[in-house]
Amino acid sequence: MRHLLTEEQRTIQDLARTIAEEKVKPVRAKYDEEGVFPWDIVQELAKVDLFRVFVPAAYDGLVEQGYGITNMCLVTEELSKACAGIALAFAGTALGAFPILLFGSEEQKHKYLTPMAAGKKLAAFGLTEPMAGSDAGSIRTTARREGDHYVLNGTKVFITNGGEADIYTTVALTQPEKGARGASCFIVEKGTPGFSFGKKESKMGIRASVTSELIFDNARVPAENLLSREGMGFIVAMKTFDISRPGVAAQALGIAEGALEETLKYVHQRQQFGRSIVSFQGVQWMLADMAMQIEAARALIYGLSDRIDRGDTKDIGHLSAMAKVFASDVAMKVTTDAVQLLGGYGYMTDYPVEKMMRDAKITQIYEGTNQIQRNVIGTHLVREAARLAG
Ligand SMILES: Cc1cc2nc3c(=O)[nH]c(=O)nc-3n(C[C@H](O)[C@H](O)[C@H](O)COP(=O)(O)OP(=O)(O)OC[C@H]3O[C@@H](n4cnc5c(N)ncnc54)[C@H](O)[C@@H]3O)c2cc1C
Repeated sequence: MRHLLTEEQRTIQDLARTIAEEKVKPVRAKYDEEGVFPWDIVQELAKVDLFRVFVPAAYDGLVEQGYGITNMCLVTEELSKACAGIALAFAGTALGAFPILLFGSEEQKHKYLTPMAAGKKLAAFGLTEPMAGSDAGSIRTTARREGDHYVLNGTKVFITNGGEADIYTTVALTQPEKGARGASCFIVEKGTPGFSFGKKESKMGIRASVTSELIFDNARVPAENLLSREGMGFIVAMKTFDISRPGVAAQALGIAEGALEETLKYVHQRQQFGRSIVSFQGVQWMLADMAMQIEAARALIYGLSDRIDRGDTKDIGHLSAMAKVFASDVAMKVTTDAVQLLGGYGYMTDYPVEKMMRDAKITQIYEGTNQIQRNVIGTHLVREAARLAG
């Protein structure tokens, strides 16, 4: 796909690749083991301006036109080849930024996107609650207007970058009696009175990413931090996912590519039955399937991200869902086969493929599970069937 990229996109890809190779690879096992947030890598990304790639030029970013989704995917993919957990500090910030990018006022964009572009402030997106995962419409966090503030009460769970980020785009009910139609989206700053962080999760994979609870206990958020207007919370969330899901797909793609690369190195040097195992046709066929699936995922992701960057974002929900489902299923399959092809060594932590297999799993779960994404695609097809039937 590199031949389809602009000069600037190739530069971004090269920069991210260099950081992944030189800075991320040497520390990924340490971060995986310790499960701490990779601030040193965040600083490296900021130093070479990689947080600017999804921010419009008007707010100190690099994007002259459109959304910079291809840029965001390229960085996420390259970092994920080395470590998908570390990549999420970057991709989670893009997710937290998108509601502001899509629905923020000029003032909100200047105030919040500018420090994000410089990598001085990270972002997060808070939707999920203990009783509202796939059924996001059943959130219970409330936001009650009191003079020139909203008072937020409730708990969000599983929030990427929780506790580390400074800016939280958060969905809460301003009219609880209306359910999802009564939801609104707010920008909540770390340090807001009544806003704190709860349980930090211990995870199977992406352990360099921090996943935490957000607790709102009479948190007083200035009314000017409402995004768009009251009642738009779910539209903000759904439009955000339309352009963020290609990022999850790119993370999955990067994991799969990293796993294939490790596998190729291994099967070339590993000798059994007096010859290199790559000479066995059974091994080659597995490698062929891995490579084929990766190529298909890449085409799906970059075809879609290019479309979004050209401003064609109408009716793309099913396409974002397809990219996310396909690439994440590929990541799971390819990393499982990578472990298989490394045999017993693949199962050991001395080689990175077991970590890649653990990391791949989350891409089938978050930003809407793959079953829910198939529902989205199915709903689109039902409408299409009705249209064709006249
Ligand atoms: C590491 C991590 C990071 C995350 N980061 C964030 C974040 O930054 N912000 C945020 O808001 N959320 C975040 N999440 C939450 C994530 O998006 C949810 O976990 C996910 O949407 C699934 O919700 P759930 O865990 O409540 O599962 P449930 O909704 O309880 O689902 C359980 C199972 O039932 C299936 N299921 C449910 N409904 C249906 C249906 N209608 N048809 C078929 N199958 C169904 C699901 O597919 C799943 O297999 C994160 C989660 C994790 C684990």
